[in-house]
Amino acid sequence: MSMIQNLNAIKDNGIEEFIKAENEKWKCKSCGGVINVHKDICSTCGKQRNTESG
Ligand SMILES: [Zn+2]
Repeated sequence: MSMIQNLNAIKDNGIEEFIKAENEKWKCKSCGGVINVHKDICSTCGKQRNTESG
């Protein structure tokens, strides 16, 4: 997603919706923990962000 698209999304949906979507993007599907943005793994359980299954 580009910067412009981000801004448009904020304009359309509001900052709260945008933040919610961002949080969702960085939330671990296994444990609900926070994904480390730099390492792309969950800081709680160590699971990788973009695993298709498991
Ligand atoms: Zn996790």
